[in-house]
Amino acid sequence: MVDLQSQYYKIKNEVDNAVINVMNSAAFINGPEVKFFQSDLENYLDVKHVIPCANGTDALQIALMALDLKEGDEVITADFTFAATVEVIHLLKLKSVLVDVNYDTFTIDPEQIRKAITPKTKAIIPVHLFGQCANMEEILKIAKEHNLYVIEDNAQAIGANYTFSDGTVKKSGTMGTIGTTSFFPSKNLGCYGDGGAIFTNDDDLAHRLRGIVNHGMYERYYHDEVGVNSRLDSIQAVVLRQKLPLLNNYNEARQWAANYYNEAFADHADILTPVTADDTNHVFHQYTLRIMNGKRNELQKFLSEKDIPAMIYYPVALRKQKAYYQESNDADFVNTDKLLNEVISLPMHTELDEEQLKYITDAVLEFMSAE
Ligand SMILES: *Cc1c(COP(=O)(O)O)cnc(C)c1O
Repeated sequence: MVDLQSQYYKIKNEVDNAVINVMNSAAFINGPEVKFFQSDLENYLDVKHVIPCANGTDALQIALMALDLKEGDEVITADFTFAATVEVIHLLKLKSVLVDVNYDTFTIDPEQIRKAITPKTKAIIPVHLFGQCANMEEILKIAKEHNLYVIEDNAQAIGANYTFSDGTVKKSGTMGTIGTTSFFPSKNLGCYGDGGAIFTNDDDLAHRLRGIVNHGMYERYYHDEVGVNSRLDSIQAVVLRQKLPLLNNYNEARQWAANYYNEAFADHADILTPVTADDTNHVFHQYTLRIMNGKRNELQKFLSEKDIPAMIYYPVALRKQKAYYQESNDADFVNTDKLLNEVISLPMHTELDEEQLKYITDAVLEFMSAE
């Protein structure tokens, strides 16, 4: 699905030197490199504060902790996403309210958010799934009307742009109250281990978030609240500092591969290629098709026999997972329930070449055209 090795070899000298410098400096934790990366990322995103942390799941949890929610407060998010988003809501004893997604873009449906709002609703977590932004204009409008926080789960779309109807363009993750991301190696901006970050334009929230990631400590050895220990280490920071200037190129390489796929599948009636909403660009964390002939699982098996990895993101709705099970009316989740049976994600990374793409698309078309 990804080729992190080839990507590394292209920047090996720079990265190796940077990592060795950290080892020589022995500033493994809280070293200056973490601050440098923080500032580089603030500039890239045009956001006031970046708070690095240990991973994308922590980033979501810490974001929710900073909002002073009370047990039982409701947080609306999508039924069709990676589990981390919902997991942290439950860890903090908040109530997750899962809603359906848009059938074409796979991102949370603002109309369904509206319907799910109750007096207990405190926050919305839109997920910028697979590499494109959720409908932020509408979501921010709803949030304003109902006085809700918005936490953007931007683990899959770092570098994507969102365009508001007045023409303003913003980076994904910088529009809500707080944005979060993950630097897991296979994400669009990945480090060589675990890493994550939290973004905000709010000075008070930034102060709070910096305290929470550091044991609830705002003054050395004075603990004002129960926090966590969540840090990005210096070795990951220097890897990220080398890779950040390449992020736009990386995203363009993904878009180029996506275009190749799109063109190859354009004329096949049973293959729906990814749809990008008008208000966002797509940085293709995943390239996800919808297979309309009911043979998605057989296609996956066929590809696997040809050594082509293909994954089902995601096979089970979160509302039906044992850990987060909630009573629901299936009629409210028609899109999610269709997608679970139709979606398949093809290899997508920065190193795909024409030969590989041809091999993959030929195989998909061979299976889909044999009736
Ligand atoms: C990867 C991911 C996360 C979690 O990130 P980790 O760094 O693995 O903890 C959260 N949300 C989404 C949508 C993700 O894709």
